[in-house]
Amino acid sequence: MTTCVALEESVQFVRGVGPKRAADFANLGVHTVGDLLEHLPFRYELRPESKPIGSLQLGETATIIGELRNVRTRGSYSNQRITAQVVDGTGRCNVQWFNSAYLVDMLHYGQVVRLTGKVDVWRDLASLTNPQLTIVEEDKDPFADDVDRCVPVYPATADLLSRDIRRIVGNILEHAVESVVEFVPESIRDRRHLPPRRTAFLRCHQPTSPDDPPVARRRLAYDELLLCQLAVQISRRALKRNAQADPIALTDEIDQRIRRRLPFQLTNGQDKVIEEICRDLCAPTPMNRLLQADVGAGKTAVAIYAALATIANRKQVTLLAPTEVLASQHHAKIGHYLQGGRVRTELLVGSTAKSKRAATLRGLAAGEVDWLIGTHALLESEVDFAKLALVIIDEQHKFGVAQRASLRSKGRAPHTLVMTATPIPRTLAMTAFGDLDVSTMRERPPGRQPVETRLVRPTQTGQAWSFVRSRLSQGEQAYIVYPLVEESDALPLKAASVEVKRLSDTVLGGFEVALLHGRMRPTEKAKVMEAFRSGRIHALVSTTVIEVGVDVPDATLMIIQHAERYGLSQLHQLRGRVGRGAKNSYCLLFSDTGEGTAAERLEVLCQTDDGFRIAEEDLRIRGPGELLGTRQHGLLTFKVADMVQDIELLELARDDAAAILAEDDTLCRSEHAALRTELLRKYEAKMQLADVA
Ligand code: ADP
Ligand code: MG
Repeated sequence: MTTCVALEESVQFVRGVGPKRAADFANLGVHTVGDLLEHLPFRYELRPESKPIGSLQLGETATIIGELRNVRTRGSYSNQRITAQVVDGTGRCNVQWFNSAYLVDMLHYGQVVRLTGKVDVWRDLASLTNPQLTIVEEDKDPFADDVDRCVPVYPATADLLSRDIRRIVGNILEHAVESVVEFVPESIRDRRHLPPRRTAFLRCHQPTSPDDPPVARRRLAYDELLLCQLAVQISRRALKRNAQADPIALTDEIDQRIRRRLPFQLTNGQDKVIEEICRDLCAPTPMNRLLQADVGAGKTAVAIYAALATIANRKQVTLLAPTEVLASQHHAKIGHYLQGGRVRTELLVGSTAKSKRAATLRGLAAGEVDWLIGTHALLESEVDFAKLALVIIDEQHKFGVAQRASLRSKGRAPHTLVMTATPIPRTLAMTAFGDLDVSTMRERPPGRQPVETRLVRPTQTGQAWSFVRSRLSQGEQAYIVYPLVEESDALPLKAASVEVKRLSDTVLGGFEVALLHGRMRPTEKAKVMEAFRSGRIHALVSTTVIEVGVDVPDATLMIIQHAERYGLSQLHQLRGRVGRGAKNSYCLLFSDTGEGTAAERLEVLCQTDDGFRIAEEDLRIRGPGELLGTRQHGLLTFKVADMVQDIELLELARDDAAAILAEDDTLCRSEHAALRTELLRKYEAKMQLADVA
């Protein structure tokens, strides 16, 4: 009989652990027995049943069992090699290990060993190089456990090796799984062909064949995804039901009035999204919508439409942007569209003068300011609205969930529209953003030319700069982006503040070249942007402050230095600054990285300008934290599920969660009791689950 071990118990008290190892485990995120169970192998080594040495075939991966002969250590300490031979009565095999000094004491004449490796031939004898080694103890039958085996390899540290973890898991596995609770109802398990949860843990840690781990892993990944989907769906329902919003009334007359303000006809894509938004605005529950569209698709016009519809109902709107450059640009552009009308817009940023700020806040509290546009300065507590009904957040990936909530709390259940130009891959839309409704705009305004994108190697820079010169002399404009403002001893990279001088003295001599970076004073930045916009500056040397939102239609060249330092989505954003007018645009990615993954990554950009594909690729290469910024992936801490591979499983889990909640919306039925407990344990602190608590 096995005694069970509580999953909450500290891993320190597991046989073979102790305080020192417990600290090592903590570095791997393993604190409890439950964590240890969930610390899954990341791959498996195949260790086949042994073969007689006489029957080894060249090129196969095989296991042999035999006695050691002629054990020698050769070479210098730094380049040490151990050689030996193994005999088993059917033949003789050469063996060598490189850089394995720690083996010296274990290997001696007559020692029985079990070795697995790829068979080679050396001096007419079969030979194994760096084979996996098991020492067979003196009183053990070397063939006792001689079957095909699949040995787990764990994420490990220098002090806590995979084989230590394997042994420790072996000490506790059977007892620990006794405490594992089956929380997925049987009907679902049958339909989705999922093994029991206990079996899944057993098969992951101690597979009986190479076919076991994938099936077991799928079950455990499903569990994580199902819980996440339940949490997302319950909290989304709660958001919708618990809050009462002021519905907005929309008439044809308002619609006509808004459209007349825009200098262009809205695209079908914009119209479709506006329709979705208006349906939300007219409802008595607050809108909670994410608008995702590729860079340059025209999100601002959609935001303006929603804002003006709200303002027509005598309510207030606020628009939050991540940088002053972008906030000022929005304010200027919107002010321009609304010229001569009655709508009062104001700008509030960190550098707004005191007196101006005070007047704006007064107007806001009195309900006289209709639309407040700004940066983080909007979040301060003195910013107080009389009747805030719509919150718009531009480039939302630059903000955290808390900032979104803080702005929203300035109104009584205002409608919220968040906009992003980093398309959210489907998996993330269903998890990290699962509490939002998603509108997608794929179309771009007419007349856009694709941006021709080229990788520029060190040997090609001369040619590239002469191309840039020829475009500039035809009156076109360029952005030149560097990863740093100042040079740094720690990083061997070019810096904007140094290069701006060098460029204007050399390859860009004769052109107006100016510097723009995040640490400049805001008035200074505004002046430079204005000069660039008006064409007085030909080339803007900058850092990634221009990454989001900046819209200067005459700029046609985007030159990015050290391109390999950026994520693909970020490069795509930067590239999106050009290709906004009718002229051909170019994006030159300077990179001195060799062949290999970095170059391959950049090739993706040369091949496609589909931001959705690029985001998927980024997610695959770098994971959700990098793609979205670390601030908002609290929901993405899956241990088993993979955000890229498991999309189909995620869809199953989503459907199953919906089906469960449709039948039992508070999870109060007895067959859901275990599910409910597990859900609350995992998500109660993170999401609104009051419905089932
Ligand atoms: P993003 O979606 O990246 O925020 P913007 O809102 O900055 O894009 O729009 C990009 C450019 O396209 C702007 O110069 C804008 O004036 C223009 N634009 C937007 N909608 C249309 C349209 N329907 N027809 C023509 N031009 C448009
Ligand atoms: Mg924008």
